[in-house]
Amino acid sequence: MNRRQQQSRFSLAVMLLLSLSGCALLYASIDEHTPPPVGWPKMVPEVHKVSQPKMREECAPYVGSDVVGGCAIIDLMAKTCVIWLDNDFPVDGAEIHERKHCAGYDHPGGKTISRMMNEYKTAEAK
Ligand SMILES: [Zn+2]
Repeated sequence: MNRRQQQSRFSLAVMLLLSLSGCALLYASIDEHTPPPVGWPKMVPEVHKVSQPKMREECAPYVGSDVVGGCAIIDLMAKTCVIWLDNDFPVDGAEIHERKHCAGYDHPGGKTISRMMNEYKTAEAK
């Protein structure tokens, strides 16, 4: 697998209200033109650089066991964003990529971040 293919398999994991909705979007890049949703909480990412087996163990429940590079696990209720990165086979740009998810950026055409925000607002309004 070449680097480009690896990057296209970055995954975005989401966690909301302890119910897990994971998605593995097969896009390499981040959409930086669409601003984060209004009200997206400021979260300081907690970054873990770990072995590949450990990274897979942490990410697989949300994005599947074929995750490459790393994942970001976002919990809007707790306002935490935990990033797990593969330190055995690090992928260039993985940390920056996942940090942008923490900041509320999605993949081009992605709906995960906005959907999370809508679910979060709905939950808060109850
Ligand atoms: Zn991503």
